[in-house]
Amino acid sequence: MAASTLLQSSSVSLRSNPKPTPRNPRISRHYFPIKASTSPDISPNTNTSPISSQPVLKHRRPADENIREEARRHSSTHNHHGFSAKYVPFNADPCTTESYSLDEIVYRSRSGGLLDVQHDMDALKKYDGQYWRSLFDSRVGKTTWPYGSGVWSKKEWVLPEIDSDDIVSAFEGNSNLFWAERYGKQFLDMNDLWVKHCGISHTGSFKDLGMTVLVSQVNRLRKMNRPVVGVGCASTGDTSAALSAYCAAAGIPSIVFLPANRISLAQLVQPIANGAFVLSIDTDFDGCMQLIREVTAELPIYLANSLNSLRLEGQKTAAIEILQQFDWEVPDWVIVPGGNLGNIYAFYKGFKMCEELGLVDRIPRLVCAQAANANPLYLHYQSGWAEFKPVKANTTFASAIQIGDPVSIDRAVFALKNSNGIVEEATEEELMDAMAQADSTGMFICPHTGVALTALIKLRNSGVIGPTDRTVVVSTAHGLKFTQSKIDYHSKEIADMACRFANPPVQVDADFGGCHLGVMAYNLTSQAVIDGGINPVSIQMQWGVAAQAHQQQQYRSPTPRNENIVRPMSSWTADDEILVLVFDEALSVGDGVLGISFSGIFNQHLKGFYKCSFMDGGVKKNMAVTQFEAADARRCFPCWDEPALKATFKITVDVPSELTALSNMPVIHEKLNGHLKTVYFEESPMMSTYLVAVVVGLFDHIEDTTADGIKVRVYCPVGKKDKGKFALNVAVKALDLYKKYFSMPYALPKLDMVAIPEFSGGAMENYGLITYRETELLHDDLHSAAANKQRLVIVVTHEVAHQWFGNLVTMEWWTHLWLNEGFATWISYLATDCLFPEWKIWTQFLGETTGGLRMDALETSHPIEVEVHHARSVDEVFDAISYKKGSSVIRMLQDYLCDDIFQRSLSSYMKKYAYKNAKTEDLWSVLSEESGVQVNAMMDTWTKLKGYPVLSVKSEDYILEFEQSQFLSSGLHGDSHWIVPITFCLGSYDKRKTFLLETKHDRLDLYELFHSSEGNSSLFEEKNQEKFDEHLWVKINIGQTGFYRVKYDERLTARLRNAIEDNCLSAMDKFGFLDDTYALCEAGEVSLSSLLSLMHVYRKELDCIVLLRLIDICYDVAKISSDAIPNSVNDMKQFFINLLLFSAERLGWETMSGESHLSAMLREAVLMALATFGHDKTHEEAMKRFQAYLSDRNTSLLPVDSRKAAYTVVIRNTSTVNRNGLETLLNVYKEADAVQEKTRLLYIMASCPDPNIVLEVLNFMLSDEVRDQDAVYVLAGISLQGRETAWRWFKENWDLILNKYGPSLLIMRFITDIITPFCSHEKADEIEAFFASRMDPSFAMNVTQSIERVRIKARWVENIRQEESLQELVRRLACSG
Ligand SMILES: [Zn+2]
Repeated sequence: MAASTLLQSSSVSLRSNPKPTPRNPRISRHYFPIKASTSPDISPNTNTSPISSQPVLKHRRPADENIREEARRHSSTHNHHGFSAKYVPFNADPCTTESYSLDEIVYRSRSGGLLDVQHDMDALKKYDGQYWRSLFDSRVGKTTWPYGSGVWSKKEWVLPEIDSDDIVSAFEGNSNLFWAERYGKQFLDMNDLWVKHCGISHTGSFKDLGMTVLVSQVNRLRKMNRPVVGVGCASTGDTSAALSAYCAAAGIPSIVFLPANRISLAQLVQPIANGAFVLSIDTDFDGCMQLIREVTAELPIYLANSLNSLRLEGQKTAAIEILQQFDWEVPDWVIVPGGNLGNIYAFYKGFKMCEELGLVDRIPRLVCAQAANANPLYLHYQSGWAEFKPVKANTTFASAIQIGDPVSIDRAVFALKNSNGIVEEATEEELMDAMAQADSTGMFICPHTGVALTALIKLRNSGVIGPTDRTVVVSTAHGLKFTQSKIDYHSKEIADMACRFANPPVQVDADFGGCHLGVMAYNLTSQAVIDGGINPVSIQMQWGVAAQAHQQQQYRSPTPRNENIVRPMSSWTADDEILVLVFDEALSVGDGVLGISFSGIFNQHLKGFYKCSFMDGGVKKNMAVTQFEAADARRCFPCWDEPALKATFKITVDVPSELTALSNMPVIHEKLNGHLKTVYFEESPMMSTYLVAVVVGLFDHIEDTTADGIKVRVYCPVGKKDKGKFALNVAVKALDLYKKYFSMPYALPKLDMVAIPEFSGGAMENYGLITYRETELLHDDLHSAAANKQRLVIVVTHEVAHQWFGNLVTMEWWTHLWLNEGFATWISYLATDCLFPEWKIWTQFLGETTGGLRMDALETSHPIEVEVHHARSVDEVFDAISYKKGSSVIRMLQDYLCDDIFQRSLSSYMKKYAYKNAKTEDLWSVLSEESGVQVNAMMDTWTKLKGYPVLSVKSEDYILEFEQSQFLSSGLHGDSHWIVPITFCLGSYDKRKTFLLETKHDRLDLYELFHSSEGNSSLFEEKNQEKFDEHLWVKINIGQTGFYRVKYDERLTARLRNAIEDNCLSAMDKFGFLDDTYALCEAGEVSLSSLLSLMHVYRKELDCIVLLRLIDICYDVAKISSDAIPNSVNDMKQFFINLLLFSAERLGWETMSGESHLSAMLREAVLMALATFGHDKTHEEAMKRFQAYLSDRNTSLLPVDSRKAAYTVVIRNTSTVNRNGLETLLNVYKEADAVQEKTRLLYIMASCPDPNIVLEVLNFMLSDEVRDQDAVYVLAGISLQGRETAWRWFKENWDLILNKYGPSLLIMRFITDIITPFCSHEKADEIEAFFASRMDPSFAMNVTQSIERVRIKARWVENIRQEESLQELVRRLACSG
């Protein structure tokens, strides 16, 4: 779905905002009108084929005839065909002559058996199948008399002698097709699942079709002056409710027979309200049936239960409708809940008649689904139909379980035997689980339907029902009766039930109910929408899945002479999220306004317009926040939701008057209106939809002003505004800095930054209204570690940079996302370096580069410029390639072109594309123009190819040989080659050279290169060959500015190691050499022994960035060793401890006065590593200091940067038998107020070596104690020993996890963090199999990349196992300390 094919650009004209559409008076406090005055670039959709012609009409009645007249017309032509029916004994000998008129009030044959209605099939057969199909198809459901019920439309087969005027009918429920399809795809991997929804309300239930027949027949009897004293039923809910409603309307007395133990007032509300007489005795169902028999023997009461065989005639019409629904193709399976066993027979009879009369050539296989605590038919089926025993139903909280209507058992058996049917059963837990799953797809069901769905799930899982089998589940849902059991389930308040799919109820205050409502008005230019040549005209726009509740639209062309309002037809496709508005006449040429009123949902998935909660003085309150990037503006309002379709937005919101409402632009006016206020915002400049934002909630704020007078505010939770000071200061400085750097002022009058309590990403750069995770915006002197502080500055400067890169100049399509993210990442370091030069932040930029190199070494990586085909896959592009590789290649280019040329070019680029969109090539051409260097050719290899090169470098005499090939962690090499800007130096940073490697191989003569330089000649004299070899180290990729790896030959490697020992290399180059060696080792190109020996060289290292990388490598090597050489793991850990002791002793545990930011950051990492590797002294210290902290949270013995290590020691000494540590940490967590402290604890808790504790922590993560957004911290900490448990837990809870967290950025973290700790091919296979049926475009790439990582490590393990004398080396290194 590329932008250009959907909507092509054309001229744009801005119009003033149209008059607001009048509000719906019923809308009260949940009203959020959003008005946009926009001029998206819209052109006529010339590709649209003429709207498909109307479906072929079959026997449709003339437009001027109403359905009553049609009925008369039909009755005059059909009534004299002699269609008739009678009661005969059920399943009787064909020769029997016993029969009764349908007009008799009779329920049993003379022998006492059931009756059956037998039609005069010969009379019906005079008409062929085609005739009946056409007749039934012509009687479609209508909302006018006689309501087009199934009974009406099939009356020749149901009540053949009845007069049309006697039919008393109701509109039957329809199929909930969309929900069924979603359920099939989401939970069962089925593509042809349907649900026949036979009872959405009491007045439209499935049984009503049966009752329609009965009540219609009563009408006929009354007309014939037969004595009927009343209509009765035995029902606990829907039947009695519907029956009493009919009877009240028809003026017929009604009577409800009930066993006393089944009476609940809730179920009787409707019968009593309808004046029914409720007769109950203290008995069970059988006793009740006895009562009914006795009463009906005395009085002519017309029964509406299964004893009345005529009832089935109505119910069978549901079967015929199923066939009609599929245009008379027979489904493979029909699954019927088996509470009322009469239903099974009714369906059978409906299908069978269609077969016999030639409408279809076969019947579907029927499945009867029974609840396990009242399952006589199931037991009967299991015994091979051998023995039948009545079952006394167990009491049940769900009251889903009817007794199984024992009078109908013979009919049900008959139906199942003759349809090759199956009986399944469902326990209460299974049916409640199925019900909750179904509800989550929007398919509102009751436990009866839960029973049917359980049967479907079981038959699907056992393979009896195939993925492509067309299957219809009959739903008898009705809402009232089971409300309480659903509430109990979702509250997890049912004893002994796991309630796996519970979605616990959230207390919502009245201000944020279910949905937001709005009005959108788009000003459209004439050429944009209207093409006089095509009639009809259609408009396509995006309208999201979750938002789709309802919408109405009109189009107004406001040209003075010819004002015209037209209402288009609309259709909507869920997969593509496209709303199509179709006009049946050409719109007149001229400007027009498209008005759309709509409602959407305040969801809880942290995307679109979502609801999140926060605590205010111990009270849980809600707020509403938008997160539209990448493609979720459409969840809030219908729009052209693509970055290139910029528009201006004028937003108005109605909110509770005590709340703060923020949007992209400043407020121009507020109007108080009772408890509500209407807030009007200024019109925005041209911007993309993904940057539109609204935040409504309770906040405190602080503010400051930039040198230019731009007002900057930070909105914090109430009472915490001091924590916003640091970020405010950074933002104000960043705005001034970027203005200078781009020579372009900030475009809006204000910038707000808001801390959001629940947020899926880190922060979002909405134009003028940046939203942040609390940890990324709030700074707490006591609880923010140095790493937290640094992260805050990077994030704030990143988001502020987006106000230029992204918001002012926007990428044309998501393929160019890196233009946003790569640049914002790169420039956030540039800004941080200006604001905090002492942090040496550019050295830490290498962390970004490494992240990019690691991901891009996967075969499943992707180019920086990546094709994005589906809106749902956009989220996956927000990955290390766009951010880390993107920013790294920018740094490489900047280094190649020089800083000032680069800055000048960016400034021209900003001016040229302000308020517009740009592609990658646009940037390259500006850079080429300004620098005079042809940037395109070089950079294309970096942005259009995936992967990057490894340079193999050899030295022979004075010749350096370079060979490039694609580097892959798998150890394979790809074919691509790159234009690589290479820097290197020879023996000293003073002797450096730069050249472009444009081919696969190249050679450099060092003698030629350096000989002429002054002072070098002695190095190149022949006699000094030896000296040259020994001392002249060569470092390629100086400062690691290039995005590639280097593999040196043995000689060069040895010289570099010596150079490190002699402290000749810069920190960045030490980092680079170590990092490259690690990557080559993982890929099998360097042995682990060589890597370990190199690591040993770093034992006296003190530089922060080098040590941080060394520590990470230690973790990775420790993990792989535990699989590859488990016997050496302890030695390995001892070696790592030896490596770190030197720095640990210098750093200590406590903050030193005047110490640097980097020392504080390093302390956290070093102590944490020593704690993890089990260093005894660190453990002792940690325990002592932790105790001090417990008694005094302000103690200087455990400053914030040392806490992680202490917590690690505590959790590592915790196990199922000694749970104290966990309990204590949980208490600290619960008491903690600062988000940084909570986050720190979450990260530590799952690192316990006891898998049972890991499991406990994972379950804790799902509880209300942990916000959804914070799951990522727990996952990142899972211990190696806990990985198997975590994987099992993940599989078991997949549906729940998907439901609670995804599809979103969060779900990707689950996948990566739980899968990637494994390192065997068997596990990779298992993971692949698990996801085979669960893939979704929103995380598919994540899964395949994670599996690739597992396979890479599996190969690495094999390589390590083959290394001779490795264990011996590890032993020696362990003792070397
Ligand atoms: Zn960003």
